[in-house]
Amino acid sequence: MKREETQVLIENVMDELSEEKGFLGIKNDQNRKEVCSSAKEILKTTDKIIKSYIRVSREKHGIVRIPAYRVQHNDISGFYKGGIRFNENVTEAEVENLAILMTIKNALHRLPFGGAKGGVHINPKNFSDQELNLISKKYVQRFKPDIGPNHDIPAPDLGTNERVIDWMVGEYKTIHPGESYLGSFTGKSVENGGARGRREATGKGTFLSYRWLIQDWFHTSADRGEVKRNLQWKTLQKLLQTREEKGHIDVAIQGFGNVGSVVATEAIQYESITHHVVAVSDRDVTLYNKDGLDIDVLNAFARTHARLPFTQGELDETHIDAVILKAEDILTVETDVMVLAAVEDQIHKQNMKEVKAKVFVEGANAPLTQDADDYFESIGKIVIPDILVNAGGVIVSYLEWKQSRITEHYGEEKVIDEMSAQMIETLQRVYDEYFYTDSATMRYRCFYLALERLTNLLYRHGKLF
Ligand code: NAD
Repeated sequence: MKREETQVLIENVMDELSEEKGFLGIKNDQNRKEVCSSAKEILKTTDKIIKSYIRVSREKHGIVRIPAYRVQHNDISGFYKGGIRFNENVTEAEVENLAILMTIKNALHRLPFGGAKGGVHINPKNFSDQELNLISKKYVQRFKPDIGPNHDIPAPDLGTNERVIDWMVGEYKTIHPGESYLGSFTGKSVENGGARGRREATGKGTFLSYRWLIQDWFHTSADRGEVKRNLQWKTLQKLLQTREEKGHIDVAIQGFGNVGSVVATEAIQYESITHHVVAVSDRDVTLYNKDGLDIDVLNAFARTHARLPFTQGELDETHIDAVILKAEDILTVETDVMVLAAVEDQIHKQNMKEVKAKVFVEGANAPLTQDADDYFESIGKIVIPDILVNAGGVIVSYLEWKQSRITEHYGEEKVIDEMSAQMIETLQRVYDEYFYTDSATMRYRCFYLALERLTNLLYRHGKLF
């Protein structure tokens, strides 16, 4: 989904809310429409876009100036919050779209944070550790007036990790001597005040969103009366029937980084329903085995090489039985479920009809375009959207930020239990509303619930007239 598509979705939902008689307790139709129109204006637009060129002296290339961004969309729910990505496709429009999605995600999950995002236009693989360290420190120097524990709290995202965040925290501390600094970033290493379980949280939450739907929610909802999403309901039934016939469900996972590799591990370890991870991919390659890949060995390889094996020699050496395909082939492999855990706009008008999966889980942000979302909805496929699915990271970030204030460490079990409980509360609300009311897509229903909350807050804070 691109920024313009996100903005159209906000407009459509706000128009629907403005027609709802009881909304905000405003009886006068005209008055309610004006209030909703003001909220639409505020939420469609962004509070602040900061662009800077980071100056780095490279080891072999001399001085380069790298575009870098911090975008703060809205803070009506709380301090701005959102990751920083290092990726060669970073643009202002992309970072703004991701900042808007953070506002919506945090509101949907009722977290006390607003939405922000950061980005640096580099492929981190082309930079040495020393250069990446310098870029991370310069990022903090350039954006220092806009970042802080009580203002805007970044975290890792695509192409960044706890090491990058630790460097950034170190720089923040140097710039602000004597001030409390642990709450300035989340996603730190545990040794540096990070939350136990933060690295795995997004992947665990992603798999939880899917398995809770097909297992817990589906079974407890089977006798609740007439569903409005008949086609999607049948898809769930068929998926579970497939499992009875084959003895397992097949999953393919695009992206084998922080999110994708954890989803793969969760899938093979899930005891209630056997899953075979038949395909995984990264930016270089897809590995496919119709009987299921050896995820433990692939995880071990990825931990040391920061990528998947991509030559026959590497597969032979590590005894991995897989067919090597092109990176983009992951999208069209034979599978029941597809987890998207890489980058934006992967399934779109040009390839959506070739995709075979029946259920899509958006671990990544915005991996489907609106065309693909609408098409899948119309033919009964299930799309579990990003803002619902990949909130595990930000929920645990909230715990990390809280623990930095009381200088205490929560245990990993407590962190994952709290994250799961909070996710399940939102999942229950969304799945109930999606399957039992008329709404365009599950994404639309998530936007509806989030925008309802945001408008309510704006109204109560006296921002809408
Ligand atoms: P990561 O950098 O750890 O891994 C990304 C994976 O995607 C890698 O395997 C990489 O090779 C692959 N990839 C990169 N570019 C690609 C391309 N053009 N085509 C195919 N594959 C490509 O990143 P991550 O932290 O796992 O994040 C993945 C996605 O999840 C991103 O969209 C991110 O915004 C989203 N997300 C992450 C978190 C988090 O806590 N890490 C939280 C919420 C959402």
